[in-house]
Amino acid sequence: MSPRPPATELGPPDRRPISILWATSGLGCDGDSIAMTSATNPSLEDLLRGCLPGMPPLILHNPVLAYENGEEFMRAWHDAASGRLDPFVLVLEGSIPNEDFSGDGHWAALGTDPETGQPIPTNTWIDRLAPRAAAVLALGTCAAYGGIPAMRGNPTGAMGLCDYLGWHWTSRLGIPIVNLPGCPVQPDNITETLLCLVLQVAGIGPPLELDEQRRPRRIFGRTVHETCNRAGMAEQGQFAKDHGDDRCLVKLGCKGPVVKCNVPIRGWSGGIGGCPNVGGICMACTMPGFPDKYMPLMKPDAAARLYAHTARYAHGPLIRYLRERRIRRTFDVEPSWRRRTTAPPA
Ligand code: SF4
Ligand code: SF4
Ligand code: SF4
Repeated sequence: MSPRPPATELGPPDRRPISILWATSGLGCDGDSIAMTSATNPSLEDLLRGCLPGMPPLILHNPVLAYENGEEFMRAWHDAASGRLDPFVLVLEGSIPNEDFSGDGHWAALGTDPETGQPIPTNTWIDRLAPRAAAVLALGTCAAYGGIPAMRGNPTGAMGLCDYLGWHWTSRLGIPIVNLPGCPVQPDNITETLLCLVLQVAGIGPPLELDEQRRPRRIFGRTVHETCNRAGMAEQGQFAKDHGDDRCLVKLGCKGPVVKCNVPIRGWSGGIGGCPNVGGICMACTMPGFPDKYMPLMKPDAAARLYAHTARYAHGPLIRYLRERRIRRTFDVEPSWRRRTTAPPA
C-alpha cells in the first residue's frame, strides 16, 4: 500500500469502493449502531446502495448489522491490518479502556488471533488499523470523550479516542479524528458525517470543518437552547413546574443553555422528536464531561436557577405583557380599511 496525498490535493475522484470498518467493541452498548438504522437523511440504505450522486461504492463491516459472523466477518479486519484492504474508514463505537489495568485479561476485544486463539483487544485493533485508515471517526460520546464508561471511579481507565491516539493525530491522508458525540448519536448526524468523510476520502467533497473538540462545526455550532421550540417560553419567564407541562424545562434540570447539540432542530427520526421539544430535559449527552459534570441530571444548576428567577420575576413578565398588548392592539386585528365602514386607502 502506498501512502496517498491529502484528499484535498487529489486529482480525479477515486472511484474505488471504500470500506467502513466499524468496531463496536469499545466499552459501550452498541446504541449508535442501532440508532443509525433509523436515519432518513440520508438513510443507511441510501449510502449502501450508492443512491447519492457522485459517491463511491461503500462496503459496511459492522458486527451488529452484518450477515457474516466469526472468522468470515473478521476477514476484512485482518485484510485491512495487513494492507490488503484499502481504502477504509475506521469507525470506533465505545470508549477505549486502559489495558495496563486489565491484569492477565482484557477489558474489550474483537475476534481471535488465528495463531494463538486468544482474543484480540480492541486497543490492538486501533494500533493496527489507525495508521492505515484513510479517516477515523469516534462515534458516540463514549468513543469521543469516554462517556459513561469513563465516569469517575471506574476501574477500566476508559478514555476517548483522541486521548488514546493524541489530539493532534491525523490519518495518512492528513484528516484529524472526527468526534461525533451523542448518547446515542442522532441518526442523521451519523450517516451525514459518514457521507462527508467518504466524499472527502474519495477526493470529491471538501474537508469537514471541525471545532476545538474535533466535532463537525455545522452540527455542533449552536446550543440546544438556541433551537429549542420552548425557547420563546423561557424568554418570557414561563417555566414548567412538572413533567407534562409544555413550558421551558430549565427548572426541571434541562441543561440546554450550555449544551452543543442539533437534536431540537433536526429531530430524532424523520424530523420528529428532539428531547426538550417533546418534553424530556436535555441531559448534555453530547458533551465532553457527560455524565459526571451534569449530575444529578434532574437538578437545575445554580446559573439555571438564577436565570429562571430573573426571567420569571424581572424581564420575562414585562416582555410578555408588552408583546401581548402589541399583538392585541396592532397585529391580531384586521387592517381598518378592510371594514365596510371605512374607505379603502388612496
Ligand atoms: Fe452506548 Fe451512549 Fe456509549 Fe453510544 S455513547 S456506545 S449509545 S453508552
Ligand atoms: Fe432551553 Fe431547555 Fe428551556 Fe428548551 S427546555 S428553552 S433547551 S432551557
Ligand atoms: Fe443529548 Fe441534550 Fe442533544 Fe438530547 S438535546 S441528544 S439530551 S445533548
